[in-house]
Amino acid sequence: MKTDKAGFNTKLIHAGEIHDQFHSATTPIYQTSTFGFPSAEEGAKCFAGESDGYIYTRIGNPTINALEQQIATLENGYGGIAVSSGMAAVTTIYLALMSSGDHIVSTDAIYGPARGVMEKQFIRFGFQSTYINTTNIDNIKKAIRPNTKILYIETPANPTMDITDLAACAKIAHEHGILLVVDNTFCSPYLQNPLDLGADIVFHSMTKSINGHADIVAGIIIAKEKNIYTQLRSMMINLGCNMDPHQAYLVLRGLKTLGIRIERAQQSAHQVALFLEQHPKVAWIKYPGLESHPQFQLGKKQMHGSGSIISFGLKGGFDAAKILMNNVHLALLAVSLGGVETLIQHPASMTHSKVSKEDKLKAGITDDLIRLSVGIEDVEDIIQDLKAGLNTVTV
Ligand SMILES: *Cc1c(COP(=O)(O)O)cnc(C)c1O
Repeated sequence: MKTDKAGFNTKLIHAGEIHDQFHSATTPIYQTSTFGFPSAEEGAKCFAGESDGYIYTRIGNPTINALEQQIATLENGYGGIAVSSGMAAVTTIYLALMSSGDHIVSTDAIYGPARGVMEKQFIRFGFQSTYINTTNIDNIKKAIRPNTKILYIETPANPTMDITDLAACAKIAHEHGILLVVDNTFCSPYLQNPLDLGADIVFHSMTKSINGHADIVAGIIIAKEKNIYTQLRSMMINLGCNMDPHQAYLVLRGLKTLGIRIERAQQSAHQVALFLEQHPKVAWIKYPGLESHPQFQLGKKQMHGSGSIISFGLKGGFDAAKILMNNVHLALLAVSLGGVETLIQHPASMTHSKVSKEDKLKAGITDDLIRLSVGIEDVEDIIQDLKAGLNTVTV
């Protein structure tokens, strides 16, 4: 069906679907590396870009293309580029848009490896980077240099849950002729649409909410305009970080239930947040759905919901956090987020362990911070698990 004017959940089921001769209800897996040409002339046309026929799976594949079209539709972009992982999306963006001597301004609490690869590896290629608290727009203005090419924002940031004003970022970026790139992994297109707020590029680790079933690693980049899309796609093809057709099929399957999974998880997350907020052993909590969140109003304005990720700290600090993590049984002690199962982790020693202690503190990633990704189990069981775990905390 035509989905241009359809609602979000209808697009989740029908946008990008393939219509084959068997009227398949799901997108078939085209598990092939290469595609034959009907004639030499047609082959030449494909290579000249005069025909959009398929050539080779690293360049394009019908199953992968269905996913790319669907997410581009959900994010209101020109086109999508599916890649092997969220980090492949990050590095493709860096390498497609930056040259030696160029500079990037980014959120200090950005996804750890996205910062690590810049500061520890791409620094060898002359890439410059500045990490600041982007919840304060003046910090961004001050950090922009004549050679700044990208403003790269993650909101809510991982794992501090700080929220940055995307419309304000787009305005500043465009006044300076730089591109606004947004990591929308935490929200998925269901909860936030950065391109509608003025961003030029949005990307996702689809390993998280979009696929949602913790069974694959995948990423996607969506560009608002054709010329940037073309630059990014060309880099992806040459880097060879393409998605695999079977991986694309699994994401397509997970994606169909994105709306109902997020609705359920965020409803439970809200209840869990209220439980933690009033618990005597909890020192602090940050969840976009609580009025105590410093950017509660901004979150309400630019997000369509509060999501399912909660950060909190215990009065007993890191020692108490360790006891809690060792004494929960339903929540899995694991990195990743946005899946059907509840996960708990400690960023300072896990996801952000490669960030220096000083930078972690500057970014608000304190030693006591525990990150909880609420799943779709019965919320009574999730709360009971945390309650029992907290009962074992004696420090
Ligand atoms: C997981 C994650 C990434 C990286 O994605 P991978 O699929 O693990 O490579 C990037 N950004 C955020 C916010 C993430 O949570």
